[in-house]
Amino acid sequence: MVYGAIEAGGTKFVCSVANPDTFDIMDSVTIPTTTPPETMKEVFAFFDQFSLRSIGIGSFGPIDVNTSSDTYGYITSTPKPNWGNYPLRQDVAERYNVPVAWTTDVNAAAYGEYHKGSGKGLNSCLYLTVGTGVGGGAIIDGRILEGHGHPEMGHIMVQKHPDDKYEGACPYHSNCLEGLAAGPAIEARYGAKAQTLADKEEVWRLEAHYLAQALVSYTLVLRPERIILGGGVMQQPHLLPLIHEEFKTFMGGYVPTDDLESYIVTPGLEGRSGIVGCLLLAKEAEAESH
Ligand code: ADP
Ligand code: ZN
Repeated sequence: MVYGAIEAGGTKFVCSVANPDTFDIMDSVTIPTTTPPETMKEVFAFFDQFSLRSIGIGSFGPIDVNTSSDTYGYITSTPKPNWGNYPLRQDVAERYNVPVAWTTDVNAAAYGEYHKGSGKGLNSCLYLTVGTGVGGGAIIDGRILEGHGHPEMGHIMVQKHPDDKYEGACPYHSNCLEGLAAGPAIEARYGAKAQTLADKEEVWRLEAHYLAQALVSYTLVLRPERIILGGGVMQQPHLLPLIHEEFKTFMGGYVPTDDLESYIVTPGLEGRSGIVGCLLLAKEAEAESH
């Protein structure tokens, strides 16, 4: 018997199974996110090989996490073609008839980091990914912050830098945080792949300008003990120190920020935060079902 985990991303699904005692990952597969019938056929082909105790799903969104809603367990209004109004959790639960935990990809990553990564030993932390989009999840006193819905930390408003002429890429808000700071925004603003802009200081200073504003807002609203930054854009090693610098300026000393190097950090489970979180949630779903 194993725990199953599905990290359902907009580009790929990562499916893993883990030993229920050691939590070691025994097998994994990566499947492209195409259409629900195509992708799920491969997801099921993978999990059909195992005897499952429970499954944890961390999904791209928006998703319905409200247990009293008719569409609980659905991917809802995603702009991603084919996946709008798709009952992902139900499809998995019906196939395997085991407890299924259901949350967002970033909540799962926050949960993994909280228990086994950079948030270990704390009572709260916030995880933000800066990649194709921007999204975040928070753990407060061991619980994922969600209920009526889930946070949408990527779509908060930030003040435009006076020199930034780029209008923003978000289809809903143009110049929200995601619209100005996700990987595609960097690439549209400068007309080049983000990876190739590594030595252009102004690119990362502007990026830090936007991300730091958001981190100040999250800090003021939630007061997490630590903020963990993941995702492709954070692969730029010089970005984090710039974020520390800008954060200090924007915070203006209002909330004490003397040890920013240990307040705003990188993931401890690089690349595995989401899957580890899903496995932990699978274990909890099993325990709750008894
Ligand atoms: P996803 O968000 O789809 O799960 P990623 O977190 O890898 O995937 O994000 C992909 C985005 O991150 C791309 O849009 C790209 O612009 C950016 N990115 C990937 N690698 C790097 C890098 N080394 N430096 C800067 N940006 C990067
Ligand atoms: Zn937006």
